[in-house]
Amino acid sequence: MAPLPPALAALAPTPPAASAPATIPHQLLDMLFPARCAGCGQIGELFCPACLAQVQPVPPPVCVRCGRPVPAAGRCATCLAGRFHVSAIRAAALYADPLAQAIHRFKYENRPELHQPLGELLASYWRGRSVTVDLVIAVPLHPQRLAERGFNQAELLAAVLCRQAKLPQLRPDVLRRTRETQQQMLLGPVERRANVQDAFAWQGPALGGCKALLIDDVATTGATLEACAQALLAAGAGKVWALTVARALGDGGTG
Ligand SMILES: [Zn+2]
Ligand SMILES: [Zn+2]
Repeated sequence: MAPLPPALAALAPTPPAASAPATIPHQLLDMLFPARCAGCGQIGELFCPACLAQVQPVPPPVCVRCGRPVPAAGRCATCLAGRFHVSAIRAAALYADPLAQAIHRFKYENRPELHQPLGELLASYWRGRSVTVDLVIAVPLHPQRLAERGFNQAELLAAVLCRQAKLPQLRPDVLRRTRETQQQMLLGPVERRANVQDAFAWQGPALGGCKALLIDDVATTGATLEACAQALLAAGAGKVWALTVARALGDGGTG
């Protein structure tokens, strides 16, 4: 891995470690609020081994560009026909229950602690891959949505990957979501692209040919990742890859 340009190194923080409030002992918290599996609801773990065992990879072979299943190795028809900003999109797993349920609870039912088991899916996907990247950046939320949710799910997921794989994670505010966009899950593919076009702006120093890895929770059409990558390439990134926890093959995802 190439050292980060000095201006960027100044922006790369140690990823935040999520922790319980320091004043209440963990054991007491566990007694008061026992962990409940985000997949099946069973008490004991955040995401239980039985649910983890049901997490499936995207069935190979996948398109080398977009990561969707294809009949034969190579690029899918869409990727053969078009030009894209993201060089390759991969997902740790298929967007299906119980994982889909867990991601939904993580984002919409205020369960930020689920970033740990979900982020570990990213980290275990990353282990054993030969790709190297210079920096990792999470897909940002619009400040208003961030205020509503209280956390950026992609940033917490990226932090787990970065801690485990020892990758530098950039401060999230260097890539800014400049306008509030409609929820992608409500839109069709063409509308999704229009919805996120020019919605992101780079606010950091020039990226000097860096290889960047974008992180998000779910990819569906990849439109959000494309729009982020466009901003990163305009800022001087040499290449942009993307990794998500899950890949939705229908229209049910959010990206
Ligand atoms: Zn479970
Ligand atoms: Zn493709």
